[in-house]
Order: sequence, then C-alpha cells, then structure tokens
Amino acid sequence: MIYYPEKYAIEDKRMQAFIDPDEIWGYLNRVKADKSRVREVIKSSLDKKRLSLEETAVLLNTTDHELIEEIKEGARTLKEKVYGERIVLFAPLYVGDLCTNNCQYCGFRSTNKGIQRLTLSSNELIEETTALIDQGHKRLILVYGEHPKYSAEFIAETVRVVYGVKHGNGEIRRVNINAAPFDIPGFRIIKDAGIGTFQIFQETYHEPTYKKVHLGGLKRNYDWRLTALDRAQEAGIDDVGIGALFGLYDWRFEVMALVRHVNHFEAVYNVGPHTISFPRIQNALSLDISKEHLVKDDEFVRLVSVLRLAVPYTGMILTAREPAEIRDQILRFGVSQIDGGTNLELGGYSKGKQEVQDLSREQFQINDNRSLSDIMDELIKTGYIPSFCTACYRLGRTGEHFMEFSVPGFIKRYCSPNALLTLAEYLEDYGRDDTKEAGYKLIDEKVKELSKHQKVDKLKEKLGEVKQGKRDLYF
Ligand code: SAM
Ligand code: SF4
Repeated sequence: MIYYPEKYAIEDKRMQAFIDPDEIWGYLNRVKADKSRVREVIKSSLDKKRLSLEETAVLLNTTDHELIEEIKEGARTLKEKVYGERIVLFAPLYVGDLCTNNCQYCGFRSTNKGIQRLTLSSNELIEETTALIDQGHKRLILVYGEHPKYSAEFIAETVRVVYGVKHGNGEIRRVNINAAPFDIPGFRIIKDAGIGTFQIFQETYHEPTYKKVHLGGLKRNYDWRLTALDRAQEAGIDDVGIGALFGLYDWRFEVMALVRHVNHFEAVYNVGPHTISFPRIQNALSLDISKEHLVKDDEFVRLVSVLRLAVPYTGMILTAREPAEIRDQILRFGVSQIDGGTNLELGGYSKGKQEVQDLSREQFQINDNRSLSDIMDELIKTGYIPSFCTACYRLGRTGEHFMEFSVPGFIKRYCSPNALLTLAEYLEDYGRDDTKEAGYKLIDEKVKELSKHQKVDKLKEKLGEVKQGKRDLYF
C-alpha cells in the first residue's frame, strides 16, 4: 500500500485545509439569533436555498424554546416537501478489525488488547453477505480498520466478492465503503470495483482536539484525512460521504465545519457530498474518554434539524447507534437513510444475533437491536415507504440527491415508483404475512396518490411483474 500524505496535503491547492476555526468561532460568537432573523433563515431554506455559514450560525445560536420548535418544524416541512416519505435501508458489514491507529473513542484502537482481531476470509464474507441477502438487504456498507492488510486491492476484491453472491431471488446491488483514506491511485482501484459511496468521517474538525484523540498511526495526520475525499473525487468517485463523530468537541462547531466541508465540495467539484453522517459516541470496550462534549438528546435533535435546513440536498444517515425511540423521532427531521437488522460483530450475521453484544468483537455498542423485518413493519405502520432502490447508481445518475431536490417531479417520476417496486420485491421474497398485507395496502395508497399527478400504468404493470417473479425493475 502506498501512502503519500505530505505530497498530496500540500502541493495541490484543492487539497489544502479549508477549515478555519477562527472563521467558525467568529460566526458562532458574533451572530445573533433574534426572532425575525431566525424566521428569515428558515424561510430561505424552505425556498430551497443552501444556507451560508452565517445563516447556519443563526440557527445554531437559537436558544429560545419557541424558535427551536420552529427550526424543527422547518426541518420537518423541508423533508416532507422535498423528499417525501421514503427511507432508504442498508446494513453495515464489518470485514476486518485490524487497526494500526489509536483513536481514543474506538474499540478497535491498536492499544486495546481485549479486542479479538479478525479479518473475514472470502468464504466468511460470502456467508455474511448471504445472511444479509436473506434478510432482504440490497445495499451494504463494508467497514474496515486501517491496516496494511486492507490495501486498495484487498478492499476492491472484497467488493467483488460481495457483488458476486446471489441467493434465492436476492443479491447486493450497491456496495458502499467506510475505510481509511487512500491516495488517488488507491481510490481509483477501489472505484473500479464498482462501489457506490466512499465514506470517511473527519471525526472532529477541531484540529487540537483531533490531535488529542488520535494518538497513533496514520490517522494522526489531520490534513491527510480532511483532504481524503478530494482525492476520492480526483479518482472519479463522485459519491462521497462526510461525517463528524459527535461528542469529541463542541457540537455547534462540528455542524459549522460540516457545512463548510459541503461548501468546499460545491465550490471545487460543483456537487456536494452524497451523504452526511452524525454519529454520537457510544460505549466501546475499555472506553475512557472525556464526557465534556457528549451531546444530549435535545441537542442532537437540534443539530439534525439545523443540518437538514443548512444542506437541504444532501442525504442524511442515522444509524443503529441511536435507540429506536430516538431514531423514530429523528426520522421526521430529515433523515433519508437508516440501517436495519444491524450486527457489528465480525461474522455475526451468519452466526445469528446474540442476546448481549460481545464488545470484544465489536467496534462499539449499538442501541437499536430491531431486526430488519421489525423496522420494515414500523416504517410501514407510520406511513414511510421503506426503499431498497439503487436505480440512480445503476444508471449512472450520480448526484441523485441534488436531482431529487432540484429537478421538478424527479421524486414522483423515479424515486417513489422505484421505492414501491423494491418494497414489493421485499414483501414477495422476505415479508411475513402481516408485513405483506400492510405493505401492499401502503403500496395501493401510494399508487393512488401518485395517480393524481401522473400516469401510473407502467408502475402498475411493473408491480404486477414483480408479483409474478420478475426482479430488479426500475425507472
Ligand atoms: N477505520 C476507518 C476509519 O477510521 O476511517 C473506518 C471507520 S470506523 C470502522 C467507522 C466510524 O465509526 C468511525 O469513522 C467513527 O466515526 C465511528 N466510531 C468509532 N468509534 C465509535 C464509538 N465508540 N461510537 C460511535 N461511533 C464510533
Ligand atoms: Fe481504527 Fe477506524 Fe477505529 Fe480509528 S476509528 S481505531 S482507524 S477502526
């Protein structure tokens, strides 16, 4: 594996650090959140304008209870207005936990002697993928520690193995990656395996804190990580996912920095990141970190709402780190993707879920232990359309969130029908009887709603074909 941190971090203008803490704190310390200004900013976002750093600071500085409720309401309206009721489902699949870094918050850190170090063999990876396909999954994110063994070639090979697995009527149609940063040639090798999104979280955008919590290994280099997704873009990976690990530093600073990161992508590549993640630190084996910046539940709801309003055309991911009640509540404020039936244990999907998590084999504690089928039931019951759609990626329609947001009728023409088709597939192949009944009722209702605005003959025809056994139909 080749790493050239120094070379890429300095030479190219696009690769230079673009986060300026003084600028961020300048806004947060200076900007006032009076009533009329807060309402103006919410309105601007509802008019589909991406918010500036100054406007984001207005929302973050709001402490008045009534105005906070208006911000949450704004996020909810924006989600309903733009994205409708679709929620995309995926599952994480841990491929290996070898790691040369020493990130204080992570169970896999190199100094954690209690962790069992494992890397799935090809056969084990096939078994895990099969178990996930049998749950009904179509989209996975493969996760790796940072280690010379997990080279670009190794990662590309694991992606090919996963795509190669077929079981019953199922297969994985989109593989995303969460792994260490690579150089441009490395990212190219991984891209060529046909990945969807490459996710890298900056963890904290506050450099002194970053240095404090990353005590060993290549991840210590803040700039190498900050510029990683620029290299991914240079290598042709258009869909990138950014994120911050909330709880390391002031949450308002991290939200501002995430928005700044989005602006950077828009300015340089003309397209924002595909997704934003906002994990909160969870317990892990022998975790010992400062509790000073842990984010409380009410702050978490605020940060998700502000992010939704600030970057209205970026997908937002909420994982099973959060308990079911929080996930169900926060879905309304703009989340577009969640994981389901999550099991972080290496080899855990094929082994079956244990009563209690074994943290010596897992990166951190999760708090939503529902199966995919329970989550499907809950989503259907509340009127969301669970979606396994991968059409845009398969048709080379990158920047799909941007299109959903800005192309009139895009969601009605493509996203909603495709969500319904993948839901029908799920119901036919994996749905319990009661799920099937409720699911088809929901499909009928949604088709009726769509028929008020457009012709639905083709959609009905395709739904009929799914019932007769055809698979992988989309618009
Ligand atoms: N090793 C790669 C890296 O560090 O980029 C892959 C990422 S790691 C397996 C996935 C993400 O989990 C990290 O980027 C971090 O944000 C998050 N994470 C690590 N420890 C965590 C914890 N204790 N609670 C919640 N999330 C955690
Ligand atoms: Fe390794 Fe990633 Fe965990 Fe850091 S967060 S110790 S790099 S697996």
